Formats: sequence, C-alpha cells, structure tokens
Amino acid sequence: MLIDTHAHLNFVAFDKDREKVIKKCLDNDIWVINVGTNFQTSKKATEVAKSYPEGMFASIGLHPINLDTGLVKRKIDELEGKSFENEFDYDRYKDLAESKKVLAIGEIGLDYYWKPKTAKKKELFKQKQKELLFKQLTLAKELGLPVIFHCRVAHQDLTTFLLENLDIKPEKAVIHSFVGNVDELQKYLDFGFYIGFNGIIFKNIEGINFKENIKKTPLNRILTETDSPYLIPPGVESERNEPLFIEYIAKEIAETKNIDYDKMAEITTENAQKLFSL
Ligand SMILES: [Zn+2]
Repeated sequence: MLIDTHAHLNFVAFDKDREKVIKKCLDNDIWVINVGTNFQTSKKATEVAKSYPEGMFASIGLHPINLDTGLVKRKIDELEGKSFENEFDYDRYKDLAESKKVLAIGEIGLDYYWKPKTAKKKELFKQKQKELLFKQLTLAKELGLPVIFHCRVAHQDLTTFLLENLDIKPEKAVIHSFVGNVDELQKYLDFGFYIGFNGIIFKNIEGINFKENIKKTPLNRILTETDSPYLIPPGVESERNEPLFIEYIAKEIAETKNIDYDKMAEITTENAQKLFSL
C-alpha cells in the first residue's frame, strides 16, 4: 500500500473521469489525500472524500497564490479551475473541517515565485501572504489539525515567521514538494516536520540537489506524494499525473536511500498514518 499525501483529484482536470481515476487508485491499494487550494477546491476535496467509505481524504486551505492581492497578474490555472479569493473566510473553512475526512489544513504557506514590479509592492505582497498564513495556522491550532505547507522560494521567511509566531507554529506538519538546500531542509527537520517528495525530484533545478535532500531526510520523516495533475514522472506516458504513478516516487526514494522498495512503501505509509492520524 502507498499513500499519496498530496494530490488534486478535486481539480477540474479530473472532472470528466474522476471516478475512474479513483477506482484505479483503490484497486491498486493507493490512498489519497486531495488538497484544497481555495474554498471551491477544498469543498470538492471534502465531497470526494465523503463519497468513499475509505481511501479518500481531504485537506482544506487557501493557497497563498490564490489570494487576490491585486499585486501580481496571474492567469487562471486551467487544470485547477477558478482560483482567486479576496480574503480568507475563517468560519466557512472551519465549517468544512467538521467532516472527519478533513485531515489537515493546507496547502498554505508562502510563495514568492511571482514577483510584483516595485519594491514597495513586493513587501506588501509578502505581508499579505503572511497575514493569510497567520489566520490559517490559527485555524489549524484551534482544530488541532496538522498542516500541509506550500513554500516556494521563501524558506528563510517561512522559518523566521514560524519562530516569531511560536504560539501558532504547528507541531505536526509537512513541507510538501520540498525544493531547497540542505540547510533549509535541516531547519524543518529540527522543527519535527515531515518532508514531502514528488516528481519534482526528477527535474534539474539550479542549486538544488534532490538526491542529497532525500539522503539527509531520515526515513521516518519522508512522505510520498504526486501533486497530480502536475509533475508527471519521466517515463510515464500520460497527459496528466495521477496518484497511480506514486510508485515512481517511492522507487526513486528507495533507490536513493538504498533500501528495499517494499520496506520504503511500508515506512512512508506509516509516516502518513502517523502525521494525519489515519
Ligand atoms: Zn499542490
């Protein structure tokens, strides 16, 4: 068994054949946490989870890039659907979290990949993201739920933010799709966080050594994920990624760690069960 701890079967990319895709997962002993990125996709993830007696779960939250700050121009992501929200409606998300199928708050965090044009706007953009993060970490704390972090080119700010806000710093969390250096990785490990690896580990990104990151992450802190429909692993012939292809990630991690694939699958499954109280 494998658990895809970060997928988006809740996105419009799966509207036409969602049931088929989920059946393939369940037939192959793959459980999935579908992750929300705004209210609409959070609600969808929850509905999907509720309609299956086992194997489908949800995480809810407002992705930093889906906060409409008016400071950067972004096109609507056609795989995701309509994306932007003016503000985080705390109570509406809290109501959604009443379902037992909602296991976490996420994906939430900081994303500095998109850059506003002036220094002043850049600062405001960061500020607004931090305010949003603060509200959502408060909700996670209130509900006693773990957190799924999205952090893109903002590790320094995220670790500083968490250290400056210790009262809302989660005890249980994962840094999903980790892209960073070994020092940044170590800070998260020191926090007790898990590290999520997906198909991005097959890419060449300047200054990033994914093999080294996998080696440096203790086995009991590794989570496997696909981030479907994004990040198709090399060698897979498909127009979009699916949780079924999670075995490519588990295999790569097993090889890098030099351990048996089955053992790897067992450990990462246990890790996910532990973090999300599954
Ligand atoms: Zn995602």
